[in-house]
Amino acid sequence: MRGHDYLDREIETATLKAIQKLQEAELARQLDYLFSRSLFYQDKFRSAGVRRKDFRKLGDLARFPFTSKQELRESQTAHPPLGRHIAADWRNVIRVHSSTGTTGKPSFVGITRRDARMWTRLTARSFYTQGCRKTDTVVHAAGLTLFVAGLTSKDAIESIGAVFVPLGTGASEKALTMIPFLGANAMHCTPSYASYFADYVRREAAIEPRELGLKKLFCGAEPGAGIPAVRTKLQEDFGARVTEGLGNADMAPIIFSECPEQAGMHFNGPDFVVAEVIDPDTEESLPIEAGVTGELVYTSLQRECVPLLRFRTRDRVTVLGTSCPCGRTGFRLRCVGRTDDMLIVLGVNVFPSAVRDVVSGFHPRTTGEIQILLEGPGPKVVPPLRVVAECSGPPSANDELKDEIERKIRATLVVPASVELVPAGTLPRYEMKGQLVRQLSRDKV
Ligand SMILES: [Zn+2]
Repeated sequence: MRGHDYLDREIETATLKAIQKLQEAELARQLDYLFSRSLFYQDKFRSAGVRRKDFRKLGDLARFPFTSKQELRESQTAHPPLGRHIAADWRNVIRVHSSTGTTGKPSFVGITRRDARMWTRLTARSFYTQGCRKTDTVVHAAGLTLFVAGLTSKDAIESIGAVFVPLGTGASEKALTMIPFLGANAMHCTPSYASYFADYVRREAAIEPRELGLKKLFCGAEPGAGIPAVRTKLQEDFGARVTEGLGNADMAPIIFSECPEQAGMHFNGPDFVVAEVIDPDTEESLPIEAGVTGELVYTSLQRECVPLLRFRTRDRVTVLGTSCPCGRTGFRLRCVGRTDDMLIVLGVNVFPSAVRDVVSGFHPRTTGEIQILLEGPGPKVVPPLRVVAECSGPPSANDELKDEIERKIRATLVVPASVELVPAGTLPRYEMKGQLVRQLSRDKV
């Protein structure tokens, strides 16, 4: 029966009440652990004036302080190698991953055997939700080495019983021959790579990407695959169903993922993570219901090496619903960008991904590739917002399109924009994460 098939039925279809009860018990245990083992949190709790007994029920979580990426970075710099927020003995750590983050300086995340088991299960549940099955052969065309979703995806996909092909990045030539040769029917990659690879296949092999035989694209690591126009284009290019996942280098590789209904990503891990949506300005916890937009905040459960409390992800998300025809009860959301990517034009918040969303809506007249040009470091932008967009024909024959896009950006995002059309293939393609914003003053240096 389509959709009604789960890796962990009990947890994936549990009632809200049952989840709350489970999380309350697990959170109490995680707090016991933090109060007894984490020097980092002992200090934070002391300065916030909260005690262990302040937690009785799930709602009490809001009384506890947030944790920021900046604090983790400082903790790691001051107490190498893993920081003062590490709560497990070093001898119980079995693996270390890193994320380069936006600042370029890597930060490290350690896991114990139990943490690894938990990551594997949650990641497997996420792939299974996306439709990964035992009969699949999955090409992993994403980071494999230090990236948290590299080796964990290997463990997760293997645990489902599917075939894992560790292709890695920068191997499009190999992918081209290997996918048909192995009969691979699925690919795990960023949406930027999928779009790059479609162009590559046409250019280098002179065939249509759909001729490769991929039927499932598991996308993640950046927003994009959830944007209707981007998704439609990828699905048409590859003749494959596109679903996306969302994780966090400091919490778990994949925490949310989309089922075949393709109606936003389900929260898959209520037994391992508490997910809150907060107003990033007032820091108040918002109700998890359709239409709510805010910043995603994670609290780990059952975690040994890097237990994190109310970790601010900077991911800006919109809740799409709390039920689904697939039967999963984990709420559904879409990530609309990063709160630190946000631009401000005439007092209006604009996310680069939202601009891409508008331009992608003009496909096939546009390719969907855009770049926003900034004179300074942002987030404030002197209007109009400068957007470079790729069009399908020669730009000179597209004066109307330029006007239409400008009008649509003004109507949808309420900001004035100046659009420059360039021929298809002009903007850089990225094999890992796409870059939607370019700062001009930095180029001159
Ligand atoms: Zn569903």
